[in-house]
Order: sequence, then C-alpha cells, then structure tokens
Amino acid sequence: MVLRYIVAPPFCRSCKMFLLSDSALCNDCFKCIEPVCSINIHLTRTVKISVHAIGAYKDPLKYFILAKGWRDRTASRQLGLLIWQTTPIKHNRFDCIVPIPLHWSREMLRGFNQANVMAMALSALSGKPIVYLIRRAKATEYQFRLSGIDRQTNVKNVFVQDIDLIKQYQDKDILMIDDLMTTGATLQEAGRELLRYNPRSITAVVGARVCV
Ligand SMILES: [Zn+2]
Repeated sequence: MVLRYIVAPPFCRSCKMFLLSDSALCNDCFKCIEPVCSINIHLTRTVKISVHAIGAYKDPLKYFILAKGWRDRTASRQLGLLIWQTTPIKHNRFDCIVPIPLHWSREMLRGFNQANVMAMALSALSGKPIVYLIRRAKATEYQFRLSGIDRQTNVKNVFVQDIDLIKQYQDKDILMIDDLMTTGATLQEAGRELLRYNPRSITAVVGARVCV
C-alpha cells in the first residue's frame, strides 16, 4: 500500500491535494460536480433509452474528458470509476458493455479510445464483459465543431454491426458507454444500429453531458 503511494501518489485531479484514499477527487472537488438528471432519447418513434451521466460538462469533470487530448488513460479509468460511484447503473441489469467506437484512423492518432478505457474500468467493477457489437464504418468530423442538424447528418449511417456477433448477442440488456454527450446524435445512431441485435434493453451512460 505504502509502496503504491510512493509509485503513484494519489492526488486530487482538480486541486492537487494529497489524498489518503485512491480517489479521483477530494471531497470538496467531488461536491463541485454539477449533477444532471438522467434523460431519455428516442431511437425510433416507439423505442427510447435512458442516458445517465456523472454530471454536467463543466470543471472538474471537463478536465477528465479533455485529458484524452494529452493521452491520459488514468483520467479515463477514473471516469469509469466515477460513473460506477455516481450513476444508477450499478443497480441496473446489463449483460454487456458496448463502448462507442472511434474510427480506426482516429484511434491510431490518439493512441486509445477514451470510451473503451472507461468501459474497461466499468467491466472490472461490474464483472460484465466488453463486447464490440458496432464499429465505425467511416471517419467523421468532430461533433463539437458542428451545429445540431449537421451533427445528425455527420453520424448518419456511420456505425455498422458485427455480423459474426449477431446471433450470439440477441436478446441482451446492453449498456452503451461514451465519454461525452452533446446533442445525443451519436448515441442515437449507435443505439439504432444496436437494435439489429433485438436487445431486451439498451441503456447509455456517459462521463459528462453538455447542458444547454
Ligand atoms: Zn480537490
């Protein structure tokens, strides 16, 4: 335990205060996370899914999301831990975790997919497997650079399902995970593709949600 503190001393990610426990944030900074309500988004006219988030896309959470820019995987793992601690998903039934994929070219550029590292943390905590049920068929423009309508068009038909897994993963409770939700267009498009697996349910969880 002591050795671990020397090798990787636990500091609060926001105020840099030394912590005695292996947490991402000290109590004071944790309280600065602005909570958000879980929301529903429609995949079709009749199917809607719940989206849970740790909180609003503001500091101190914003720091964890942006940390992918300097390839900080620990921050992504801590997002997974915060999701487990703060959202209702640990009380929800789910069979597998599906990270929202990056296009391979972007993942190669960045070195990792933040949603995937978050999913790994969540998988370790929940004991549920990560399954790559969808992949990105094409590279898209960054969503934050686009307006609402353009965001819908940008992600239209961008995900495809894995034909080999279709039979194996029928009738499951699926948990989708992503780092950030802006308009929900990406989750909506990914969720629509997941409907081809005839899931029993789909729930989504994100690190932070942009509140307008
Ligand atoms: Zn702090």
